[in-house]
Amino acid sequence: IPAKQNSLEEQRRQLPIAQGRDALIQEIRDNDVIVLVGETGSGKTTQVPQYLLESGVAGEGVIAVTQPRRVAATSLAARVAAEKNVQLGGLVGYSVRFDESSTEATRIKYVTDGMLVRELLSDPLLSRYSAVIVDEAHERTLRTDILMANLKTIQRSRNQPVDRKGKGRATALNPLKIIIMSATLDAEKFSKFYDNAKVLYVEGRQHPVKTYYTATSQPDYVDAALRTFYQIHIDQSPGDVLIFLPGQEDIESLEKSITMYANRLPQECMGVTVCPLYAALPPTQQAKIFSATSKGIRKCILATNIAETSITIPGVKYVIDTGKCKEKRYIARSVGTGFDTLLTRDITKSSAMQRAGRAGREGPGLCFRLYTEESFKAMPISAEPEIRRCTLTSSLLQLKCMGQNLEQLDFMDKPEQDTIISALATLHLLSAVDDKKALTHLGRRMALFPLEPTLARSLLAATEFGCTREMLDILSILSASSKVFYDSSEEREAALETRRKFRHSSGDHMTVLNVVRSYDEIAASESKAGQRDWCQKQYLNFRCLTEAMDIRKQLREACEKNGIDWQLSCGDNEQPVLKSLVRGLVQNAAFLQPDGSYKQIMGPSIVKIHPGSSLCDKKVPAIVYDELVRVILRRV
Ligand code: ADP
Ligand code: MG
Repeated sequence: IPAKQNSLEEQRRQLPIAQGRDALIQEIRDNDVIVLVGETGSGKTTQVPQYLLESGVAGEGVIAVTQPRRVAATSLAARVAAEKNVQLGGLVGYSVRFDESSTEATRIKYVTDGMLVRELLSDPLLSRYSAVIVDEAHERTLRTDILMANLKTIQRSRNQPVDRKGKGRATALNPLKIIIMSATLDAEKFSKFYDNAKVLYVEGRQHPVKTYYTATSQPDYVDAALRTFYQIHIDQSPGDVLIFLPGQEDIESLEKSITMYANRLPQECMGVTVCPLYAALPPTQQAKIFSATSKGIRKCILATNIAETSITIPGVKYVIDTGKCKEKRYIARSVGTGFDTLLTRDITKSSAMQRAGRAGREGPGLCFRLYTEESFKAMPISAEPEIRRCTLTSSLLQLKCMGQNLEQLDFMDKPEQDTIISALATLHLLSAVDDKKALTHLGRRMALFPLEPTLARSLLAATEFGCTREMLDILSILSASSKVFYDSSEEREAALETRRKFRHSSGDHMTVLNVVRSYDEIAASESKAGQRDWCQKQYLNFRCLTEAMDIRKQLREACEKNGIDWQLSCGDNEQPVLKSLVRGLVQNAAFLQPDGSYKQIMGPSIVKIHPGSSLCDKKVPAIVYDELVRVILRRV
């Protein structure tokens, strides 16, 4: 056995949860539902599935572990595969939207909650799984809530003998174990929901963390984080720093400035290595976060709330908490219509406490809160579940395909009537449901694709108008996790000038299509390095394009599987593409007003064309858009 394997085994044995291993296995044997609460880093996510497998308590089927975010699913699967000393995708695998690494041999599968909900469509009893571990349940994402509601009924039907009248003996389906895991002390609610299920606690090891507040509030939290980091770096003893920021943009901007100042430090100062961590981080960059730094180097991790409870990074001694996070929230436009937007907002008390806790995993630590003590005291205890604040359109469509009624489903928290009405209105507009709210043939077909119903509608329209090839090019870019045109503030002019050749007079979707077509030509003859070079010269985001090509491949496969010809092309005629787009994005249509602004066809809102758009200043009579940026004007 190589030395590395030994040390991983040793690490496993030393986790707080390891002491309770046998007791935990016994409890799972005796109970069909368990609620497991334990401090972050105690070993729940990586160990519990292994215990189930090793003990055989979960039968012969697959053990699913759900995660709200894809980067958590993929990185935890990689970790557990390493602990088991197997190739990722074999015994241990993962499955997230547009990316899968699992085979017939996979027994432990890390999945996003959304993927498992999607599996319900083809396998309503989740019969391949003998255990489902709902992890990070405290986050209460919409998909987690839908899953928890469904698991309840699935378990009832699976754990009971089926009486097949006239067809021989009653047989039992393979029973299902459910384990709900959470990092916060909200076990009561989960336990009650599952008929007073047994609650178990893992005791963690938490060292004291000294917390500091700022004297005044810090509107420029990125700048405040930069200054605080360098104060730590210069004044404090070695130890890694974890900085919590709301999103990828802030992370990228802080990464730049920290790196810039690091290069100006005197020789005798410790070096700095910066590791970003956010939902869309490509797997190749994930490993860096966990690797130990060499002596004389301080690691600085810039993370979103993903590092609060789902991913534990070793070596952290200092935490800088900006007090901000991004939250998906539904914005009502008028009765029955609205959309989700990501808003940067203040965190909750429970988040603030989790963030501080990250500094005390291995020894005493320090937490610098970039907000005042008064602001902390004013924070709400915990966040509202997503089901109470997000659009339900996509979920409603999925539930309808499963023959379920959103209004009658046994949820932990019921959705608002208004949100249901709005989701129904959208589905009706897309012709996914008819006047009697019944699912249509078209609606059923829309649910076959891993796309928002609006985009799936555009794809299906493209089959009608003969432009599936073009539509898939566009949808792949829209589905990628980063933008194809990145903002480079230093070389703005050069970038604009270079990209001008892709510009299409009929709008940005067509411009995107031009980009993909040019990239396809390059990709046909150039190596990966050549493609990267080309992207750089064109000021295009290589990461976005490679991801989009991967997505396109999978969407083409989904088309083939469902009998749709993805090779229909309209050539240089843009009309079919535009018509198809309108079918899906009809809610996002707006008409020109005398003052040059655009008025949405639904609701009273006024929108404007982004200055970066090829349609800006063109005064076209009508537009459809796929993204709305909210500009919040504040009086200063
Ligand atoms: P919990 O789910 O209770 O928060 P985990 O099972 O996620 O705990 O983590 C247990 C331990 O495994 C932590 O100490 C964490 O640092 C470590 N760990 C998890 N993933 C990785 C990884 N990819 N590389 C190195 N260590 C990891
Ligand atoms: Mg965990």
